[in-house]
Amino acid sequence: MATALSDKLSRLVKEMRGQARITEANVQDMLREVRMALLEADVALPVVRDFVARVKDKALGQEVVGSLNPGQALVGIVNRELVATMGEGVSDINLAAQPPAVILMAGLQGAGKTTTTAKLAKHLVDKRKKKVLTVSGDVYRPAAIEQLKTVTKQAGAEWFPSTPDQKPLDIARAAIDYARKQYFDVLLVDTAGRLAIDEALMREIRELHAALNPVETLFVVDAMQGQDAVNTAKAFKEALPLTGIVLTKMDGDSRGGAALSVRQITGAPIKFAGVSEKIDGLEVFDAERHAGRILGMGDIVALVEQVTAGVDLQEAQKLAAKVKSGEGFDLNDFLSQIRQMKQMGGLSTLMEKMPSQLQAKAGQVDMDKAERDIRRKEGIICSMTAAERRKPEIIKATRKRRIAAGAGVQVQEVNRLLNEFEQMQGMMKKMKGGGLMKMMKRMGG
Ligand code: GDP
Repeated sequence: MATALSDKLSRLVKEMRGQARITEANVQDMLREVRMALLEADVALPVVRDFVARVKDKALGQEVVGSLNPGQALVGIVNRELVATMGEGVSDINLAAQPPAVILMAGLQGAGKTTTTAKLAKHLVDKRKKKVLTVSGDVYRPAAIEQLKTVTKQAGAEWFPSTPDQKPLDIARAAIDYARKQYFDVLLVDTAGRLAIDEALMREIRELHAALNPVETLFVVDAMQGQDAVNTAKAFKEALPLTGIVLTKMDGDSRGGAALSVRQITGAPIKFAGVSEKIDGLEVFDAERHAGRILGMGDIVALVEQVTAGVDLQEAQKLAAKVKSGEGFDLNDFLSQIRQMKQMGGLSTLMEKMPSQLQAKAGQVDMDKAERDIRRKEGIICSMTAAERRKPEIIKATRKRRIAAGAGVQVQEVNRLLNEFEQMQGMMKKMKGGGLMKMMKRMGG
């Protein structure tokens, strides 16, 4: 759907080339597309309305800088607003409390609370070297208690027993007492969920919260819930002072809108994303990446910004034209390309920001090695004469030795560079008309 948004916007944009400003007149159609795209991404309607209003506010009267056109500028604004709404930067679990730091897990049944409890336990054990205890207050489902026992073991944490005949509050108190005596750093409390919000459930979790005084109260919500996530989030926010959100099942075919809705409704930061059923399937939530997912175009906006900031566009266009025609791509171009890559923050950063289709194509390349090689290659090319760079085939053995000495490398490395350059030329020809070039052209637009 997202490609849809960028495609639609660029179509609209074609009609308004040369307009230097985002105005009431030219922004209407574009905002309609933004609105549709968000609804398609399953963002809740009231959240979409607020969001589009904010974007419009920011966009109106905005100067369109450099070679961007109003559509591209608007995509940039939408992207920044998505990131700002979903929370910039990343926030890990807060453990700033007298040990044991208590983490209360809240959410509907099936949201992934138990799974997430174990994933968090593993995260805290492995990454933060904590001694972690888990306990289940789900006295209504003996199977849930057993499940927590099993997954806690997998996490390398300890499980505190509980039984269905106990009261959740008593269980929690006993667990915290045990955790204190045994010097646990963290106590993770899994709670009962129901299939839908009900008052008894909310009262129970409020009591638990009051008794435990948790440093984190995490709301676990299924990203696949889409629009429905909003009502659940509202109910939990009213019942509890939430300190964070965990969005689960992000590996599913959810369209990602729940993140925006839940964040806006609760005001709590999204701390983690569940990305598989497995115990290590938990990632620190990355708002920028997720905004890209909602827009469905990789981090193309950031790429546009980065490229326009760091690179001589004319140079890039000239290069793109040469590569496109497959003609005259020489070592000077190779060098200029290497330098542009460096300016843009290296190959891997560049690749990360590309849309997924392109990333897949580039997936076979070892980025770290490529970057090291690039620095050495730059040295070698710089030791050549202008004529040699234009026509590498004139470089004879004696010159190769001189070049190698100048660059402080072995002759073999010069040979390798020349071979690789040839291969690169071939690859460039194959890529001609492909994604990268189209993108560069559009940026130069
Ligand atoms: P609870 O009732 O809230 O404790 O939910 P569970 O932890 O039992 O999870 C419900 C189901 O969702 C289980 O089948 C889990 O394996 C699955 N699940 C939980 N988190 C994720 C996730 O991030 N990705 C996927 N694919 N499945 C998940």
